Amino acid sequence: MSSAANCIFCKIVKGDIPCLKLIETPKTLAFMDIQPTASGHALIIPKHHGAMLHNIPDDYLQELLPVAKKIAIASGLDVNDPNTVGYNILQNNGRIAHQVVDHVHVHLIPKRDQATGLGVGWPSDAGAAERVKELHAELLKKLGDDAAKM
Ligand code: 5GP
Ligand code: ZN
Repeated sequence: MSSAANCIFCKIVKGDIPCLKLIETPKTLAFMDIQPTASGHALIIPKHHGAMLHNIPDDYLQELLPVAKKIAIASGLDVNDPNTVGYNILQNNGRIAHQVVDHVHVHLIPKRDQATGLGVGWPSDAGAAERVKELHAELLKKLGDDAAKM
């Protein structure tokens, strides 16, 4: 896990490492991904160091999706023809979940063809399906006041 001092995205926020900026606000920075998986692949990050989503205060999370939405629209991805143009919003947490840079970031990945962009595998988990009701009850207990009222 990197600290803020040796974090590549904190260095980008500080201006110590260059990036191609798209949108900047006091709490959020969006820029082009250096190794795009599709044309227009962009990253949106909170200006607060933390490796995973749960490490980031809520106020630094609030703009991430609205900024991604603005870039999606500017990129011409707001075409309501789901068979030809789409996009994926991806946010990886942990090495086991494909995270490489340990500073929270949201990917905006255009999907205009099958050859580029995100490929998603969705293996089914029969064990999880069997346990879903039990797990739901456990989660409701742990969510406490945040739990949905039945
Ligand atoms: P992760 O796998 O952690 O979700 O994705 C990290 C992303 O950060 C990758 O898409 C990678 O190309 C991008 N990235 C890594 N280093 C840099 C950098 O120095 N500048 C920019 N613009 N993107 C970077
Ligand atoms: Zn950082």
